[in-house]
Parts: sequence; structure tokens; C-alpha cells
Amino acid sequence: MAIIETILVHSQLCTGCRACELACGFRWTKQMNPSQASIVVRRDDHTGQIEVKIHASCDVCQEREIPMCIQVCNPRALSLGRKLVQTLTQADKSSGEES
Ligand code: SF4
Ligand code: SF4
Repeated sequence: MAIIETILVHSQLCTGCRACELACGFRWTKQMNPSQASIVVRRDDHTGQIEVKIHASCDVCQEREIPMCIQVCNPRALSLGRKLVQTLTQADKSSGEES
């Protein structure tokens, strides 16, 4: 097991402004390009419910003290957290290849 940093989403605080998408897309491409963002915000037109997803491509803005998406999120709907992940040993990987 290992502990890694991750972006936590507090959906109840999210206004759906999508500033985080713009910031993340800019961080990756140096252009206002939300289609390349590692964070995706979607609002259901019928229920008004907002969903925020963090893609596997997110590297928690390794080079920055405060990730871009957190920096631009005024309602503080994003924060830095930690999660426990399962890590595979070389022995695990080898036995997986054999089966
Ligand atoms: S910047 Fe914050 S409030 Fe705006 S969409 Fe992203 S998570 Fe939601
Ligand atoms: S931490 Fe960085 S890479 Fe990850 S979603 Fe936020 S801005 Fe994008």
C-alpha cells in the first residue's frame, strides 16, 4: 500500500463555473483549452446536479505548491488530500503475468 496525493472534490460547494477546467487545460497546453483538462465538470440540465471528475492524467500539478485547479476555485470546492492505493510488488506482477 502507498499514500499518494490527490484532489478532493466537495461537490456541495461547486457552482459549476468550470474555472478549474480552464486552469487545468491551460496548465497542460498553455492555451485556454479545457478539452485537455484532467478535471471535468458537467451539469445535468434536468436535475441541475453538478458532477466533477478527476481523470487519471491528473498529476496533482507536481511542479506547483498549490495545484492550479485549487488556486482558481473560489468556493473552495477542491482541496488537496491523500488516498491509500494498492501497490503491486514485482512478485505480484510476475504471478499476474503467468495466470
Ligand atoms: S472551479 Fe470550483 S466551483 Fe468552479 S467548477 Fe471547478 S470545482 Fe466547481
Ligand atoms: S491538480 Fe493540476 S493536473 Fe490535476 S486536475 Fe488540478 S490543475 Fe489539473
